[in-house]
Amino acid sequence: MTAVPVVIGRRAPAAESRERAAVDPRGLVDTHGRVHRDLRISLTDRCSLRCTYCMPEQGNEWLARTSILSTDEIVEVAEVAAALGIRTFRLTGGEPLLRPDIVDVVRRISRIQGEDGPVEVAMTTNGISLAQKLPALIDAGLTRLNISIDTIDRQRFADLTRRDRLDDVFEGIAAAAASELRPLKLNAVAMRGVNDDQLADLVAFAMGVGAQLRFIEQMPLDAGHTWDRATMVTREEILEALGERWSLEPVPGRGGAPAEKWRIDGGPHEVGVIASVTAPFCGACDRLRLTADGQLRNCLFSNDEYDLTTLLRGEASVPGQRDDRIADLLRSCILGKLPGHAIDDPSFLQPARGMNAIGG
Ligand code: SAM
Ligand code: SF4
Ligand code: SF4
Repeated sequence: MTAVPVVIGRRAPAAESRERAAVDPRGLVDTHGRVHRDLRISLTDRCSLRCTYCMPEQGNEWLARTSILSTDEIVEVAEVAAALGIRTFRLTGGEPLLRPDIVDVVRRISRIQGEDGPVEVAMTTNGISLAQKLPALIDAGLTRLNISIDTIDRQRFADLTRRDRLDDVFEGIAAAAASELRPLKLNAVAMRGVNDDQLADLVAFAMGVGAQLRFIEQMPLDAGHTWDRATMVTREEILEALGERWSLEPVPGRGGAPAEKWRIDGGPHEVGVIASVTAPFCGACDRLRLTADGQLRNCLFSNDEYDLTTLLRGEASVPGQRDDRIADLLRSCILGKLPGHAIDDPSFLQPARGMNAIGG
C-alpha cells in the first residue's frame, strides 16, 4: 500500500477567491440562487471494500496520512459552516467507520449549534463494523444513517466489492434496524449484469428490515473510467423492473431531495430513485463537500478545489480573523459552482479523484 501526497484537483487561487466572496445574508448562496444547507465531510479515502464503480482493485494512490484533516480542523470548519447556514453534516469517505476517532468526530460536530438549533449529523457507510460502533455513535449524537448494499447475493457481493464481507454488512444493517435511527435508508447503485436482475429482491430485503431502498444511477466516478452512458441502468429501467412485482405510485412533495419516491402497493413502504444522470437534480442542489485532505468542492464533478488546508495549517492567522478567512473560502467555493454536472456534454471530463477520495 503506497501513501503519496497527491494533488488531485485544480486549486482555485485563494486571494482571487477571497475577492470574489460576496457576503449574502442568507448564507452560502451561489450565483444560481441555491442556498446550501448540507456539507459532506469525507473522513478518509481508505475503505474496507473495493467496489468496482468507486475504487481500483489495486494501485490506488492514497492520500498522504499527513494531509488528512485532524478532528480539530474538521470541527473548526464545521463551526464556521454552521454559522453560514449549514444544517446537516454528512460524514462519508471512503469508509467513515475506518476513522479511529469516528465517535469523537460525531460527538463534537453534533454539539454545534446551527441557525435553527443543533445541527444534524448523518453518515453514509458500507455497514462493516457498524454493529460494534453504533451504540457509541448514537450516544455521541448521530441522527441519520444511510447504508450501502448493492446486492444480497454473497458471490455477487464478493465480485462487486472484491471482498467477501456481505455477512458483516448484514450485521450492520440488523443493528441499524434495531436502533432508533429513522428513516433508515439503504443505497444501491444499479448496474447492468451485476444486480439489474435483482432490483426487486433488494427492495423486498429493505422492506423486511424496515428500511427504505434508494437506487442510485451509476455516475462516471470510477477509478477505471469504465462508465458507459449507453449501458448504464436508467431510472426508467429501474421503475420498469420494480413495476413487474408491485404497483408504484409517485409520492408528491419531493422538494430539494435527490430521490424521487414511489409508494409500493399503496404503502406503507416506499422506494426511491436518485436519477443523477438521466434526471439530475442539480437545480435544487444544496450540498458542498470537504475532502479528507481539506479541499472544498462545490460539486461531485467539479474540477476546481478550494484549499482549506493551506489556510488551516500554512497561513499565520490573526486571532479573530481565522474564522472570517474560512468563511470567505466557503463563500468563494459556492460562488464558483456551475449550474450542473454536464455529464452528457461532449466536453465532459471525469474528475481526477475517484469517488472514495471525493466523498459520496
Ligand atoms: N463507503 C461508504 C459507502 O459505500 O456507503 C461511503 C462512501 S461511498 C463513496 C458513498 C456512496 O457513493 C455509496 O452509496 C456508493 O454506492 C456511492 N457511489 C460510489 N461510487 C458511485 C458511482 N460511481 N456512481 C453512483 N454512486 C456511487
Ligand atoms: Fe468503499 Fe463506499 Fe467506495 Fe464501496 S462505495 S469502495 S464501500 S467508499
Ligand atoms: Fe449538486 Fe453537482 Fe451533484 Fe448536481 S452533480 S446534484 S450540482 S453535486
